[in-house]
Amino acid sequence: MTKMRILLVEDELDLGTAIQRTLSQQKYIVDWVQNGTEAWGYLESEWTHYAVAIFDWSLPGLSGIELCQRLRHRKNALPVLMLTARDRMEDKVAGLDAGADDYLVKPFAIVELLARLRALQRRSPQLQNQQLQVGCLTLDYATLTVSVQTGEGISQVIILTAKEFQILEHFMQQPRQIINREQLMNHLWEIQSEPMSNVVAAQMRLLRRKLAEYNCDGMIETVYGLGYCFIPTDAPK
Ligand code: CA
Repeated sequence: MTKMRILLVEDELDLGTAIQRTLSQQKYIVDWVQNGTEAWGYLESEWTHYAVAIFDWSLPGLSGIELCQRLRHRKNALPVLMLTARDRMEDKVAGLDAGADDYLVKPFAIVELLARLRALQRRSPQLQNQQLQVGCLTLDYATLTVSVQTGEGISQVIILTAKEFQILEHFMQQPRQIINREQLMNHLWEIQSEPMSNVVAAQMRLLRRKLAEYNCDGMIETVYGLGYCFIPTDAPK
């Protein structure tokens, strides 16, 4: 099995230290942050690197619930385990409603945490689907790269930024569908950010420029007045 990278968001120093130490001994790679807002930055820039996320419920900055809601709003299926001292039923329901996959009430035994993580890993989209192939393009979640098949058994890697990768993935998941700028904005940019209105167009230009180097820019067509449409082909066009 590949190494598992976990995002741990916990502001209690003792507990965070204990979890990180234990998980590291189990060969996990653990990014530990103590602030919800900082955690969102990690999720935005390194979202495909994580197999599982562990969120404490109450955190400085964004809460664990808000982090969950943001992920799910983006259609991000990263498995989430919530940690909380609250054991009231309504809190549990709120956590699951927000999109958490599982729930652990403090204090808990570390073996219990490990068991829950193993269960969540089995559901990890990265493990189930390491690659997304549409037409001659193959998107690899492990390496964050996209490759284009240029001939029989020949492929070239297209190096993309995280944002370009996200945009292309979004198109590849919905081939032949018209996607407008607002939909791209809602799915791929931070909810509360107020990016300039031309940010989507600018990112699309950058992505197309990269694809053009491999004669693949023709696969993303502009549908005048409506948006963009990904038309997969079996060879660069
Ligand atoms: Ca806390």
